[in-house]
Amino acid sequence: MKRCTWLNDISDLVRKLHQRGARTVALQFPAGLKRRAAEYATSLKEAGFAVIISGDPCYGACDLALDTLDHADVLVHIGHTPVDSRENVIFEPYPVDFDVGVLANALPQLKEKIVGLVTTVQHVHLIPAMEAFLREKGIDVRVTGGGTRAPNRGQVLGCSFAAARATKAPEILFVGTGVFHPIGIALSTGARVVALDPLAGIAQEVSGDALLRRRFAVIEKARGAETIGIIVSSKCGQARMALAERLSVLSPKAVIVTMREVSPDELLNLGFACYVNTACPRLAYDDQVRFPAPVLSPQEYEILCGVRTWDDYAIDEIV
Ligand code: SF4
Repeated sequence: MKRCTWLNDISDLVRKLHQRGARTVALQFPAGLKRRAAEYATSLKEAGFAVIISGDPCYGACDLALDTLDHADVLVHIGHTPVDSRENVIFEPYPVDFDVGVLANALPQLKEKIVGLVTTVQHVHLIPAMEAFLREKGIDVRVTGGGTRAPNRGQVLGCSFAAARATKAPEILFVGTGVFHPIGIALSTGARVVALDPLAGIAQEVSGDALLRRRFAVIEKARGAETIGIIVSSKCGQARMALAERLSVLSPKAVIVTMREVSPDELLNLGFACYVNTACPRLAYDDQVRFPAPVLSPQEYEILCGVRTWDDYAIDEIV
């Protein structure tokens, strides 16, 4: 079912590297693709380039290995689209195909005539085929651009649901794996959300209610904290210092803490009673059980400080 196209044909990348006059190339892979790194490096070496592989953890295009550019002419980042513009970085997609006929599994779950369609970067090349399939089934399907952070039509990220919001549809069909994206879409849009895992063929309605209940409990746990660390990431596409500075003035107990990797061990070492996460939004939502103290989103911290009401709860996005 899954198909990798880039290893079969690197001629387009080789052409782009020659256009830039590159002699030494750095390669960066997300965790799921790292095991292909040696194979990929060998192909580029055979094409005449010197190659360096970044072995550090990488979760997205927000986390570019820019340090490799001290030793390489170009960084090739595999698997993600750019979240901002960078010189000397080439973004190579890693498209994963599936038979769009699997969308039939979602049809019994859809209740509206107008449906917004979104997916993740691995499947955005299939958006036109998915649109055609749904139109053929009589659905008024809406697909919009995702803005600068998610540049493809219909593309959402864990930190940007703009492509779902912009459809203004009463119901959104998310095609992809996992439940974080559809939960974020539900909270960001207020629409009814159906998630279809195209590889497992399973469709389900997803709501943000359980996440809201968990987050309410985390905010309550943070009340009375005597020390508050406002985390600012040093990763290129996650650094939100202006936001952190605005949040830090909401409480005299708050101090800004810069970090590259936000890990349970480092939060334990720092010893704050509560943290506010301005790095990748998913850290607070996905990883709370691993952290030694409450880790609030910026909006949750505003609720804690009394400058936002619970009724105005919003999921954190990087814009
Ligand atoms: S900030 Fe988080 S959700 Fe956004 S692109 Fe980076 S890893 Fe993904």
